[in-house]
Order: sequence, then structure tokens, then C-alpha cells
Amino acid sequence: MPDAPAFDFDLFVIGGGSAGVRCARIAAGHGARVGVAEERFWGGTCVNVGCVPKKLMVMAAEYRGMIEDARGFGWDSDAGRHSWRGLIAAKDIEIARLNAIYVKLLEGAGATVFEARATFIDAHTLDVGGRRITAERIVVAVGGRPAHLAIPGGEHAIVSDAAFFLPAMPRRVAMVGGGYIAVEFACIFAGLGAEVDLVMRQDLPLRGFDEDLRVELARALASQGIRIHPGRAPARIMANGAEKTVHFPHGDPIVADLVFAAIGRVPVTETLGLQQAGVAMDGFGAIRVDTGNATNVANIFAIGDVTNRLNLTPVATAEGHALADRLFAGSVREWAFDRVASAVFTSPPLATVGLTEAEAAARGPADIYCTRFTPMRHALSGRDRKTFMKLVVDQVSQRILGAHMIGEDAPEMLQGLSIAINCGATKHDFDRTIGIHPTAAEEWVTLRTRTHVAEGPRGPEAETQLVAPEEIGAAEMGIGA
Ligand code: NDP
Repeated sequence: MPDAPAFDFDLFVIGGGSAGVRCARIAAGHGARVGVAEERFWGGTCVNVGCVPKKLMVMAAEYRGMIEDARGFGWDSDAGRHSWRGLIAAKDIEIARLNAIYVKLLEGAGATVFEARATFIDAHTLDVGGRRITAERIVVAVGGRPAHLAIPGGEHAIVSDAAFFLPAMPRRVAMVGGGYIAVEFACIFAGLGAEVDLVMRQDLPLRGFDEDLRVELARALASQGIRIHPGRAPARIMANGAEKTVHFPHGDPIVADLVFAAIGRVPVTETLGLQQAGVAMDGFGAIRVDTGNATNVANIFAIGDVTNRLNLTPVATAEGHALADRLFAGSVREWAFDRVASAVFTSPPLATVGLTEAEAAARGPADIYCTRFTPMRHALSGRDRKTFMKLVVDQVSQRILGAHMIGEDAPEMLQGLSIAINCGATKHDFDRTIGIHPTAAEEWVTLRTRTHVAEGPRGPEAETQLVAPEEIGAAEMGIGA
């Protein structure tokens, strides 16, 4: 008779989000005996309180502008009234469908699913909803949670988890933060008709993004009526019934129905019992891992946002997939984690891949190509909405180092461009590519005139020289070829 296995499972995954589900599913597909525990909702942040419902809400918010745009095309249209409850109910049905798919995928692959909390007893033993379970290897994929404002009255501010379940649409929103979530939700609420104040510590939103893109985003936010308050951080929030007042160390307070703090996310490691297993964390509570997602404990791994590196869903799933392949199929799956494209679903959206102008200039001279134009739709709609595109090119090798865009369809375009950039495309490769006409995307292959050269930190003399408005968007408008 064969010996009984030494452990209940070959692999136990804690967390049923993007990273954990992919890892468990692929490992089970390779024949491993896999258990996976999720205490809250299958699909994790992305599916339940992140990317997916957020994008549905962005779409809802975009309709108002699109209906107004239609007038320029001869439609006698009126946006009418929006039903917040209708939107949330429709969104909830879709998310419930996705939750069920995640469980089905896991069970279909042969993984054992536990709807329970799992905590460490030791490096091979877990408490899973009161049951003692052992595993040869354990993967921590518990993700992060929104940070709360640590100021007096901070409890009067909601965080993103709650934004998806608000009982009613707020009339006035004070958004605190200038990162991904703050700018995305500022656009959602503004699009749905709220008055929005965006309060941020920096001069421009999205610290770390290309400077020109940040400037363009600030313009786009302002053009839809969002009031930006740069260089400010709240000191106190007071509540008077449903009304909240955000006070600052200096200057006028802001009165709102909803204060929304979008000030970053923190790994959820406090109560996992990681100390019992001896797993090392950094000062932020993120699990320390090497490039192969191994922790300091030989049989314990961590993937996704709990490691607080590139906190993006596709990165988390890629890590989960690669780890499962490595552990149970002996194969090495490679991803280019240094040139990951990402998007921010503002209105209009922005997307980016590779180096910013400043990052490129710090490495050596870079040729910069920019264009800013009115997309074809808005020639007739009359809406004040611009598209901005930028290519960052290494001057010596002529390799494309970065591409940055704000404008309609930016995320869809940048996914394709990121393949070319990851393949090492040069400016010459872009130049010899025939465009698709009439599209905004063809601008990427018709950017002929260098806007400026970036060398070291940009001074005022290196101010971007954009081509004249009547020349720009030439490709899509059919006037430049
Ligand atoms: P971000 O890290 O993107 O931004 C945090 C913002 O909050 C910054 O503007 C920061 O200012 C500000 N901030 C931090 N602490 C305080 C404070 N105490 N008082 C006032 N302002 C403060 O965090 P988000 O919450 O927006 O998003 C979390 C993460 O989720 C993102 O980093 C991203 O990884 C992921 N995400 C990705 C999305 C996508 O891919 N489209 C969408 C949404 C989220 P400062 O710049 O001065 O530090």
C-alpha cells in the first residue's frame, strides 16, 4: 500500500483574488492537490471592489457626455435622469456572475475550495475556518485594503470598498488623494452629475507618471468641472448630520455629502499569523519576496498586492501562473515586469508603458515626439476634449523607451503598443508602419517632427513645443497625409 501523503495538500493558497485563483487553478491543472481559502469574496479586490465594477461605473458616467455629443451629429438627445440604484443593482448582478465563475474555474480544475479565513499555526499548518490543515507549500495571496485617513474625523470619510455600495448618489463629493482611485472616482462622480472637489498634496495628479500626461489630465479634469485643490491635505473632518466639512490647516473648508479618501492601499498581513510561520515583512507590512516570489521560509510564497510591488491585477495573475508552473510543471514562464503597460480609467482615460520622459532623460538623451489634437468625434460634438500622445525614444539606439497617452481608447491602444515596445521596436519601425485611417491610433506611426530633446532634468527652455492645433490630429482628420 502506498504511504499516506505527509500533508493534506501539496499546495494551499490563502486568498481567492486574481493572484490566488490563477495560482491554485494552474497548480491543480498540473496535478497538484490544491486547497484555496477565501473569507470574503471570490475574485478579490479586482472583481468585487476594484477594476471590474469601477470600469462599469466609468462606462455609466461616460454615457452622459456621449448623449450630449450626439447632438452635434443631428440627434435630438437629452441625457435625462440617472438611476444610481439601477446602476448598482446591475453591477451587483454582473459581479455575482463573475464570483460564481471563479469558484467554477477552481472546482473544475480540481482544487478544493474553502469559504473561510485561513491563518498560520506554523510553516506547514493552517487554521482554516477552525479546521487544522497541513500543506507542503503555502502561497499567501491576500492582497491589500484601502488605507484610512488618520486625522481627526477621518472616520467620516469612506474608502473605495464602500464606494461600490453607496445607497444613493452623492450630490457633492470631496475626494482626497491624487492617485489612481481618486482621479478615476472623481470622473465617475462628475460624469454622473455630482459636484466634485479633488484635494491632493501634489501640484498635479498621478505622481510618478509622465509630467506632460499629468498636466493634460489636470486640464481634462478641470474641463469637466472637477475643482482641483493642489498642494492641500485635510487636517480634520467634521460631520453635521449627512453633511461633512473638510478643514485644512489654511484656507477655506470644503462642504460635501461624501468625503472619499483614496490615499493608497496597505497589505492585509496583520492578522494572518505570519510570525508563527517566521515569514519576514517590510516596515509597510508587505511580505518580502525574491524575484521568484519566495519568502524567507522555504515552503512559503507570496504573490500579488500583498508583496506591494507592482499592484496591478495582470501582474498578480502572471505571478500566480508563473509560480504554479515553476512549482508543479518545472517550467519557467517569463514576463517583462519592467515594461508593464497600465491605464487609469479617467474620462478620457490615460495609459502608459515604459519610461517617462524624465526617467529616460536621466539615462541619456531622448528624442521626444508629442501631439495634442481634437479627436474627430469632437470636431462635431463641440466637447472640449483633447487627445495627447507622447513617444520617448532613445536618441542613440532609436528604440522606443516609452509611450504615454490620454484620450479616448488610450488603454486599448497602449496594449498593442506595449507588445511592440517589449519587442524592442525602434522609431524607424513605427515610421515604416502604415496607419489605419481614419483613426487616432495612426498618429503613433505618423509622428514625424521631434518635439524636443530631453537631456537631464527638463528646464523651462525645454518646454514642449506642440504642433499647431490645425495641424494636429492630421491623420484622423485626413488632412495630414
Ligand atoms: P495611489 O498610491 O495611486 O495614490 C495615493 C494618493 O493619496 C497619492 O496622491 C498620495 O499623495 C495621496 N496620499 C497618501 N497619503 C495621504 C494622506 N495621508 N493625506 C492626503 N493624501 C494622501 O493610491 P490609490 O488609493 O489611488 O490606489 C491604490 C493602488 O491601487 C494604486 O497604486 C494601484 O496600484 C491600484 N489601482 C490601480 C488602478 C488601475 O490600474 N487603473 C485603479 C485603481 C487602483 P502623494 O502623491 O503626495 O503621496
